[in-house]
Amino acid sequence: MILPSVYTLGSIDGQQVKRIAETMMETGLIEKNTSLDFSTFIYKTPPKQLKLTQAEMTHLMRTPDITYCADPDWMPFSSIVNGKHRGIDADIIAHFGQKMNHNFRLIPTTNWPQTLRMGKEHNCSVLSMIMETPQRKRYFNFTKPFISIPIVMVTTVDKEFTTDFSTLKKKPIGMVEGYAIREFLDYRYPNFNFVGVPNVTEGLKMVAEGKLYGFIDNFIVLSYQIQQHYVGALKISANIEDQKAAFGFAVRKDDPLLLSILNKTIDTLDEDITTHIVNRWTKTVFHDKTPDYSTLLKVLLGFGAILLPILYHYRKIHHYNKKLLYLSTHDALSGLYNRRYIDSKIREQREPFALVLIDIDNFKEINDTFGHTKGDEVIRKIATLLLNATPPMTYISRWGGEEFLILCNSDDIGFIARQAERMRAMIEHTDFGIDRAVTASFGVANYAPKEIHDTTYIQKVDRALYRAKREGKNRVVVYSEEG
Ligand code: GH3
Ligand code: MG
Ligand code: MG
Repeated sequence: MILPSVYTLGSIDGQQVKRIAETMMETGLIEKNTSLDFSTFIYKTPPKQLKLTQAEMTHLMRTPDITYCADPDWMPFSSIVNGKHRGIDADIIAHFGQKMNHNFRLIPTTNWPQTLRMGKEHNCSVLSMIMETPQRKRYFNFTKPFISIPIVMVTTVDKEFTTDFSTLKKKPIGMVEGYAIREFLDYRYPNFNFVGVPNVTEGLKMVAEGKLYGFIDNFIVLSYQIQQHYVGALKISANIEDQKAAFGFAVRKDDPLLLSILNKTIDTLDEDITTHIVNRWTKTVFHDKTPDYSTLLKVLLGFGAILLPILYHYRKIHHYNKKLLYLSTHDALSGLYNRRYIDSKIREQREPFALVLIDIDNFKEINDTFGHTKGDEVIRKIATLLLNATPPMTYISRWGGEEFLILCNSDDIGFIARQAERMRAMIEHTDFGIDRAVTASFGVANYAPKEIHDTTYIQKVDRALYRAKREGKNRVVVYSEEG
């Protein structure tokens, strides 16, 4: 419910707060042109200084540019247009460059397998935004990750939201050839029908054309692609649980100093810099076009396509939770509260109160003469009678087999005894569809809250009921010390 894989517990996303404030401004909930500077409102740990050793500094000075290779077709993370690097990855690298006061230089490539190959052959020292896998570890050293994102699956909008990924065993599901997710999922779901595709663009096209059931990548890339090209046609249909894409740098194996420099730089990153960069790229989707209503509608539809299945899923959970709550607090036969629930209610009492314990008379005989099913019917009918006859602010429960316990938020014992007497008479004069009267005995007792420190509170009212039985049944007895 709290989307722990999207927001770290206890974190405050400043960008999110800002967007909420902007929405409130647009809807007139707060005054327009209010300053939206939250920088002094949300605590931020001060930026850490990058401290390099003498050897690391010398190493950087001897390396004029750090060469890197990137994915040419993976927006909004990364694209290469006319030899220039764009996207989240490009901005993150620029940020690293600033932090390190050093230049990163892109060696352009045309597809991801080529990018990987260039890295392996040391044509570039670093690959950026890359996941660590056992296979890749043979060729590269990996820094710690600087960003991690949930992995999801996209399908056409007519498909159902899948909560159990393992049910999709037979379906052709695409992933970009050579991506780490492929390596992980191949290992985790060995009998699945995974299909390698050259890039995200091609994969999504195949899903839209029905050649693939679904396509898997990380949440940011897929929601961006849907909003750009497939609004109303594709949607996110599954969350690949416990799989998160964690991206860092891959560094050529023969350069351990560069690895430690990059790791130190990652340690000094501001907490929210990656979120900030990601937001900048995902936000441009909505803001770089001139706003007209058809775009707005498309954007809303796009959001709907992503959010509706998730909302639907949560509503289902909500529904089951309500059902579970009902089942755990109610008795199945009578529909009254169950023993556990009334017990918890009694323990909550902070004011004097009273209990009424009711036991049907000679119920064994009724069962023996008319059968157990008739017996059940009698219990149900008495439950209904009690429900209709008790004043408000009372809790009625089925305490045991043919015993009922009523909690009254009043200790006016005379009043409660009169109510009990009314119920007793009502039961006696009700036609239960068997050719004899059904009666019940009532015990009544009042309590101070301090009397409920253990489970023996029932003994007091049970003593009164016991006396009612002993004195001839079908009567109400109020507890007294002597009895
Ligand atoms: P008394 O007047 O002294 O209360 O006599 P009794 O026959 O009612 O005796 P007791 O309270 O000891 O027996 C309760 C009987 O209720 C025993 C059990 O077979 C029956 N019973 C308990 N739960 C159910 C139920 O859910 N359905 C039916 N039909 N019978 C039940
Ligand atoms: Mg009994
Ligand atoms: Mg009985």
